[in-house]
Amino acid sequence: MIQKVLIANRGEIALRIVRACREMGIKTLAVYSEADVQSLHVQLADEAICIGGNKSADSYLRADRIISAAEIADVDAIHPGYGFLSENAKFAEQCESCNIKFIGPKSKSIKMMGDKSVAKDTVKKAGVPTVPGSDGPVESESEAVKIARKIGYPVIIKAVAGGGGRGMRIAHNDVSFAKEYHVARGEAEKAFGNGAVYIEKYIEKPRHIEFQILADSHGKTLHLGERDCSVQRRHQKLIEESPSPFLNSDLRKKMGKAAIRAAEAAEYENAGTIEFLVDAKGNYYFIEMNTRIQVEHPVTEEVTGIDLVKQQIMIANGEKLAFDQGDIKFGERHAIECRINAEDPARNFSPSPGTIGLYYAPGGLGVRVDSHAYSGYTIPPYYDSMIGKLICFGPTRKVALERAYRALSEYLIRGIKTTIPLHKAIMADPVFIEGKATTAYMEDFLGRTATDLFS
Ligand code: ADP
Repeated sequence: MIQKVLIANRGEIALRIVRACREMGIKTLAVYSEADVQSLHVQLADEAICIGGNKSADSYLRADRIISAAEIADVDAIHPGYGFLSENAKFAEQCESCNIKFIGPKSKSIKMMGDKSVAKDTVKKAGVPTVPGSDGPVESESEAVKIARKIGYPVIIKAVAGGGGRGMRIAHNDVSFAKEYHVARGEAEKAFGNGAVYIEKYIEKPRHIEFQILADSHGKTLHLGERDCSVQRRHQKLIEESPSPFLNSDLRKKMGKAAIRAAEAAEYENAGTIEFLVDAKGNYYFIEMNTRIQVEHPVTEEVTGIDLVKQQIMIANGEKLAFDQGDIKFGERHAIECRINAEDPARNFSPSPGTIGLYYAPGGLGVRVDSHAYSGYTIPPYYDSMIGKLICFGPTRKVALERAYRALSEYLIRGIKTTIPLHKAIMADPVFIEGKATTAYMEDFLGRTATDLFS
């Protein structure tokens, strides 16, 4: 049984894991970089070890130091959170071989789903619809152009090793294709150390709808419904909600079953997410699987009442899922999450690190804040700009949205710029309120809204 967990992460997710462990009576060890000595997860964990310098490459990405810390402190498991080493198959393998439980899937599933083109191939064989595109990575520009013509423009060029919305380029004709192909390869090489790219049909104005999966080590795989993450800027999610205002229960059932088939094809264990794009006609296509807990997991927790981080730990412990698909009810609650980033939405989302003066988080009925920020906290410039998540929920979408607007109005973060004013404007936008947002929404919204509204 897991008695002590090393948290190989920082920020709000590290705190989230501390909270789950504490409720389960499990001890926690935080690891941190020099820049994070003031961080809340370091203060709230039972023990903490500094593992290196400010840059992620010198600390949170140093598998060797993390495993040494685990051995010194005698932990039985490592929770990787999201980002950093969470989808690194080698790290999961190292944990396995040191007899430390990796709270996540087996390294072989991470490897399979981490290569996006292998992932597509795997789920396609299991009968899950995928976006039409190249069979695997493209080898040369001339081959790539032929494929792009065959698929029909517009196409999207994507990095096989992609993630975080990077390494994706759209091309509308042969001329732009030639240019974007090289840009995409260069970007992929720089960001992921792997320049391999593949090509997909560019689906116009789709919705991004993903399914939360839980799978135990006894062969039970369930889905916990969907999250609609269509509100994105530069392919990065800003707002997520569940249920999706677009899905009816028939389509939810069909997509849920497809998501389970996809996870089973990856021989998946633990919590994971199957991402789909859905067009206006309700055709859905698998795009990728995330083999870890996601930023937006609280949305699902508030709708289903299931603590996903606890489930992850229980699954890693070898326990059986204590519920069945039929026990998970949809339609009784609606939840929405706004990502609060230290960015200035009035100035093209430029990063806004610095010291927070006053910090006051909203509360009241139907409001949850997952954040590591506090009054006097200095946000280091080295990491992701997300400083918190506001999750609001209620019996209907209307109530959840009204609560979100109210909570955003109460959320005070002084001294730095944040995305709070932008979220408030979106919560009051008729297109969003009507549930009409596709992945093209943000560009349209920013184009028709005066940015001084956001300061
Ligand atoms: P990442 O792993 O970098 O997050 P994804 O494959 O999950 O990349 O895609 C991120 C987003 O990019 C999607 O939510 C969608 O908005 C856009 N996107 C990806 N593939 C396509 C496609 N074939 N057509 C249209 N948009 C796409």
